[in-house]
Amino acid sequence: MNNLQVVIDAGHGGSDSGAVSSSGIKEKDLNLQIAKYMYEEFQKKGIPVTLIRNTDETISPTDRVQRILNAYGNNPNVVVISNHINAAGSGIQGAEGAEVIYALRNNSTLADNILTALGNAGQKVRKTFQRRLPSDTSKDYYFIHRNTGVTEPVIVEYGFIDNPEDLTRIQNNYQKYVDAVVDAVIATKLGETIPSVPQEGTYVVKSGDSLWSIAQKYNTTVNELKSLNGLTSNNLQIGQVLNVPTSITNSPSNSETYTVKSGDSLWSIAQKYNTTVSELKSLNNLSSNELQIGQVLKVPSGTTSNEANTYTVKSGDSLWSIANKYGTTVNNLKSLNSLTSDNLQIGQVLRVPSSEAGNNTGGTSTNTTYTVKSGDSLWNIANKYGTTVNAIKTLNGLTGDALSIGQVLLIPSNIPTTNTYTVKSGDSLWSIAKKYNTSVDTLKSLNGLTSNSLQIGQILKLPL
Ligand SMILES: [Zn+2]
Repeated sequence: MNNLQVVIDAGHGGSDSGAVSSSGIKEKDLNLQIAKYMYEEFQKKGIPVTLIRNTDETISPTDRVQRILNAYGNNPNVVVISNHINAAGSGIQGAEGAEVIYALRNNSTLADNILTALGNAGQKVRKTFQRRLPSDTSKDYYFIHRNTGVTEPVIVEYGFIDNPEDLTRIQNNYQKYVDAVVDAVIATKLGETIPSVPQEGTYVVKSGDSLWSIAQKYNTTVNELKSLNGLTSNNLQIGQVLNVPTSITNSPSNSETYTVKSGDSLWSIAQKYNTTVSELKSLNNLSSNELQIGQVLKVPSGTTSNEANTYTVKSGDSLWSIANKYGTTVNNLKSLNSLTSDNLQIGQVLRVPSSEAGNNTGGTSTNTTYTVKSGDSLWNIANKYGTTVNAIKTLNGLTGDALSIGQVLLIPSNIPTTNTYTVKSGDSLWSIAKKYNTSVDTLKSLNGLTSNSLQIGQILKLPL
């Protein structure tokens, strides 16, 4: 096995509890449980393995590093697996999934393989990344990376202890996750790559759907959907089965949660999260409107940044008049609200399209319209508005490229008015700030962010 030697660290311990769940579960205890099981699994495979602590012991960083380096020496064949459970911090609900952090001196192969294996084992996956010390960016942020010589250390964060769902998932599946990590370490040493099992779910096309509306629903783009499904045109057929992204950052199943309090109703919760009662019910597979205090409901994620606004139906409204008001189409409204008929009820709360760029700034939520003139093509109109031919076609349900003079087109409204940056895997506010020569605080205030977490695909404004 290419001299693979493994050191297993159980993060925290003793007076250092690590993160603690609202139910009082301590990270140090879960880490130990995970580490002990991992130790047994490596032993069973005959791989030299050392466990840094097997009791609830307080260990200083210096001592911990010493134990790591003492196990098999300061040697690049030594893989150090530091086991942790993440915490998103107070006020943040619904963060979930695994992360693997690797040292600046290593490449991402081991971390990537571990994360992929965890995903294949059923855990949600977030990202692999490196983290630098702000005061000296040539150095690793975490001492387990920084002070461990030439060994290959990875911090494995299995999920979030302050998300009850993620915590339960870890408690119920930790052995499966550990098996995955063990296999990934061995595969990496053998020079193998863990094949990533595609994380796509499927969606069955309904009447009124367009690639645009489905992309909206799954927080992705028309192009992404097309490539995921090998589509060459924008045409859909009712009943057609599409692959849709289900990865942690862009799936509707990646919901945040809300715990029902006294006095809550589905309606009041729907209002709070800018969604509808029927949406909440379908998200939670509820057949009745009854709630119980303490019940944990999924709520649409990203409601503060990307989700649609809502409109409450008034006397005299029709889908047509509302569609007009919001610069959209009846079909779009119907699919956005999963409506099967055109009937509306006064007081009904509908989701209406909102512009991605306008949300945090109170900008308009309507699409612009454009009347086709002689000589226009989709291409020059798209250029004029800084959008794409595909975006205009899907918004207008066009199947071909032909336009007629006088035709009124909806123009996608998320036209950037400032420089923007689309968040990619591995990005942090810090790395983006560095890249654009600005500060994390500037980015946060420019984008109205209250936390440091980013989602892949999220569009950030940059200072001009
Ligand atoms: Zn920890």
